[in-house]
Amino acid sequence: MKSRVKKYNSTPFIQFENNQVFEVNNEFIDLTGYSRDEVIGLSIDEIDILLKIDFQIHLVELVDKYTCYLFRKDDEPRFVTISHKNLDYNNSIYFIHEVPSSRIEKYFSYVLTLMSTNERLVELYSYQDQIILLKSNRKNLTFLHYPISNFDSNIGRSHIISEYFIQVIEKGTPFFAQEMEFTSPTGESFYWDFSIVPLHKENNLDYIVFEASDVTEKVRNRQHIMDQNNHLEIILEHISDQIVYIDNNGNFRYMNTVSGKNPLYYFLPMTEDKIVNEGSKFFDIDGNLISYENMPTQRVLRGEIVSSQRIFAINNHISYYVEVSGNPIYDRIGTVVGGVMIYKDLSNMIMVEEFSSLEKITKNLELNYASLTYPDFKIAYINDKGYNTMKMFNLDMELNNISYFLGKDFFDFYSLESDKEKTKMEIIDSLNKNSTCYHSKRFVTKDCEKYLKTIFQPVYGSNSEIIRIIAIALDITEEEKEKELLTQNLKMQEDMLINTSHELKTPLNVIYSSVQLLDFFLENNLLLDNISRFKQINNTIKQNCYRLTKLINNIIDYSRIESGDFKLNLINDNIVKVLKEIVESIEEYAFTKGLKINFVSNIDKKVIAFDPFMLERIILNLISNSIKFTSKGGKIDITLIDNDNYIEISVIDTGIGIDENYLEVIFDKFRQVDSSLTRSAEGFGIGLPLVKSLVELHKGKITVESTLGKGSTFKVELPSVTVENPIDTHPSIVATKRVDNINYEFSDIYDIS
Ligand code: ADP
Repeated sequence: MKSRVKKYNSTPFIQFENNQVFEVNNEFIDLTGYSRDEVIGLSIDEIDILLKIDFQIHLVELVDKYTCYLFRKDDEPRFVTISHKNLDYNNSIYFIHEVPSSRIEKYFSYVLTLMSTNERLVELYSYQDQIILLKSNRKNLTFLHYPISNFDSNIGRSHIISEYFIQVIEKGTPFFAQEMEFTSPTGESFYWDFSIVPLHKENNLDYIVFEASDVTEKVRNRQHIMDQNNHLEIILEHISDQIVYIDNNGNFRYMNTVSGKNPLYYFLPMTEDKIVNEGSKFFDIDGNLISYENMPTQRVLRGEIVSSQRIFAINNHISYYVEVSGNPIYDRIGTVVGGVMIYKDLSNMIMVEEFSSLEKITKNLELNYASLTYPDFKIAYINDKGYNTMKMFNLDMELNNISYFLGKDFFDFYSLESDKEKTKMEIIDSLNKNSTCYHSKRFVTKDCEKYLKTIFQPVYGSNSEIIRIIAIALDITEEEKEKELLTQNLKMQEDMLINTSHELKTPLNVIYSSVQLLDFFLENNLLLDNISRFKQINNTIKQNCYRLTKLINNIIDYSRIESGDFKLNLINDNIVKVLKEIVESIEEYAFTKGLKINFVSNIDKKVIAFDPFMLERIILNLISNSIKFTSKGGKIDITLIDNDNYIEISVIDTGIGIDENYLEVIFDKFRQVDSSLTRSAEGFGIGLPLVKSLVELHKGKITVESTLGKGSTFKVELPSVTVENPIDTHPSIVATKRVDNINYEFSDIYDIS
């Protein structure tokens, strides 16, 4: 017979008949959340599992009563006391009393709140004989990784006890782990923050709150950032620019190390006093002084973005060209808390800019310009003129265009292979000793000879190191040639001086010995007995005085003509007549020398402008030479030909003639021929140059033709012109002067008799 427990019994119960659920009351349904249909007919073991009490008690084994947790259909735990009653041998009933005030909401509201956020895994365990999971938000969490994902932790089940739980249970103290690393079987690392906190309740039940959060991502991110930071730091440390982080007081917080120098020093927001004390000055690119307020750091700390501000900084010791950029850094509420400054050392860049503009300027200059690297003297730049010069001296090389030179060793072109090292050492030595090296060199090719003077000028970088050598070569060929000429002239002047003294000495000696002879006659009262001898001696003295006067006059006149101090006294006169008179005046003298002298003219009269005294000197000089170099029986013809535009006067002799070599230089002021030739001619050598100058003063021309052994022809051409205001010269003066002239001009060939 089935005995039924009254349904209205207010204690939840479950009744079994033949070990199968036979009846439950509404309170049971309320307590467990299961419907009647879900439980009716289940076996007693199945009810253990359904209510998840099987880890605590098996109903079939319950003797009297037992207190444990059962779990509702919605997994909510209920702390209950289960009591058992056998109604008959195959009927039994279990009453389930919920322990009053035992709901976890009451004690663990904060745990539940934590759980409900689903930000981390939160589990509440009860711990008595076993550890039973009461509540967990695991189901709601999608992010669980190793090892939590591997925990077998179903509600009502006993937790697989980890060493940390045991530790907490044994010690009764909480355990906290931060960023604990767990390596999964696949070798992946996961990081967890977790806490295991034991709680004691007044009913002596122990609980454990397990809280875990996966911080793998955070740790990985941090590691990533750290790696990045490391990389960044490595990058920053290897950057050539100076990077500085300053705080809002201008103190620097971070600064990468830049090898070599530290331009930062000049850009700290120093006080104005400090700037003055250290003598630092800052200029913009236009050379204007930058005030303290306008220093880049000050601007950045005021919130400005500074981009590429160029500053020239100078103090007592050193100077820099720096380009500064900077960005302010703000906090969340927009206050500037610091700034990042980047300083780029422009010293070399400016130099490069300057070089390239210099190179633009020099490109087409008529000046050989090249810039060379140091210390290997490679050609970094060469201008057009330099290229052409180099090409000219290196004909054997195929130098098709300017770029061929770039990067090549300068000395490959500047010197021969044999003296390359020597030349290089000379220049380096000189650069080491002086700041500039001047180097002169002669270049010879089969086509030309040139002298170059090259200036090697080092250009210094900001650390006073040589960064370039500028080579500027000047063509000094003309100067060198002039120098050569000057040396030759000096030599000739020296020769002339020697000649002069010789020429002066000879007549002087004659005069001196004549005077001595006269003295002797006087002292011994022999003068009257030697009247004819006395005349002869007197003549000798006179003639040698003429010789001296001629020589000195020639030198003086020549010097005056050379310095442009000599003026002709031009008259308009019949040149045929004047010339005829000159020739006639020496006819007799020539006759005494055994020479025949003729004057031939194709006209009778031709009035042109000339200086009568100078014309005389020209003609007498030429005739005296002809007399001097023509032996007895010879002939001297003076011809005059009217060529309309000019008069052609020739002095033609049948004398010894002049050597071909000598002909070329016969009119030169300081003759360059073998002195033996000059000396053999027994003359001082100023006569013909003076004649030439006098002819040229008349705007005329003189030429010579001669054959050795046959004779010489000197041809003078004078323009057929007249002057408007001729000098008035009295014919008697002309005549007197002529006698003097003849005496002078013939002084070195007069026979003293
Ligand atoms: P100087 O008569 O003082 O020696 P010149 O200039 O008049 O100087 O002449 C220079 C030289 O030229 C002479 O010494 C001589 O060697 C040569 N010379 C000049 N005229 C003749 C000439 N008609 N025949 C041969 N040699 C001459």
